[in-house]
Amino acid sequence: MNHIPEMMRAMVLEAQGEPLQEQTVPVSMPAPEQVLIQIHACGVCRTDLHVLDGDLTDPKLPLILGHEIVGRVAATGANVEGLARGDWVGVPWLGYTDQTCRFCQRGQENLCEQAKFTGYTLDGGYAEYTVAHQRYTFPMPGVTDAAEAAPLLCAGLIGYRSYRLAGDHVERLGLYGFGAAAHIIAQVAVDQGQEVYAFTRPGDDEKQAFARDLGAVWAGGSDVQPPEALDAAIIFAPVGPLVPAALRATIKGGTVVCAGIHMSDIPSFPYRILWEERVLRSVANLTRRDGEEFLRLAPQIPVKTDVHRYPLTEANAALEDLRAGRFTGAAVLVMPSYQQKEDEEGDAL
Ligand SMILES: [Zn+2]
Ligand SMILES: [Zn+2]
Repeated sequence: MNHIPEMMRAMVLEAQGEPLQEQTVPVSMPAPEQVLIQIHACGVCRTDLHVLDGDLTDPKLPLILGHEIVGRVAATGANVEGLARGDWVGVPWLGYTDQTCRFCQRGQENLCEQAKFTGYTLDGGYAEYTVAHQRYTFPMPGVTDAAEAAPLLCAGLIGYRSYRLAGDHVERLGLYGFGAAAHIIAQVAVDQGQEVYAFTRPGDDEKQAFARDLGAVWAGGSDVQPPEALDAAIIFAPVGPLVPAALRATIKGGTVVCAGIHMSDIPSFPYRILWEERVLRSVANLTRRDGEEFLRLAPQIPVKTDVHRYPLTEANAALEDLRAGRFTGAAVLVMPSYQQKEDEEGDAL
């Protein structure tokens, strides 16, 4: 790793509702608890669209989006322990907690009252460098391809927390919305011996075939009932009417998890589809434990991600392709430094 430059390229959100702007901005130096990371790849998440569009209303501005960061430590603050220059690391959506509020004290740091979020209330990864708090900088020692690893940091982590909260004893798991998160969690569920039922937009044959390729026993439109009742379901699509649909498909005692940070309104539904101890719940953010568990589990399975690479400067195109559903799997921005390395070393990285 070379010297740290004073300036870097970044894609910057100046105002919600406007495209990102390519800018040259200063590289931040790490505070005592922070690490400076040279970013190699950053995933593009649906939440980035919610920030861009104004569905999430409190971003810092100007803002560097992006919370699926993979790179290497370039420098460490004075109080950082266990991370050293050159280490491969990942940075997720949750970027800071105070560790003192009542939620942190009872192990719910994901609900911290002073929480800050990467690529929303903190600058994120659509840039060549970033600083991150050491508590939310996860070691990723086995990374062989930064782009393929990036979706694990949100699609994987939030997906994993949703999967964990869907409950034990699940034999038949429904996944509503088969994008980046579902394509990762389907592999985890299949590895655990569960049957996966994948629901896509009606008529999306490509995504249904993609789900079957990843081991789903059934794939169909979200407007139809699955051939077997589900033990649990996770809703990844930000579509409120999927809530009553998933409750109808789920047996008594089953859990329906809403994984997204934003969802359109849920239509009213009859009480009987919730009765018999069905549980409807949301998932917010992640804990350090989720990160440690999932990033240990993913290489053991091993989870394979299907990624679509864009240069950093094509971030707007990546976001619009995600919005339009133009690819299967996950979009990832690849930084100039890493692209150059790939050119030098072929695809062996
Ligand atoms: Zn995300
Ligand atoms: Zn707290």
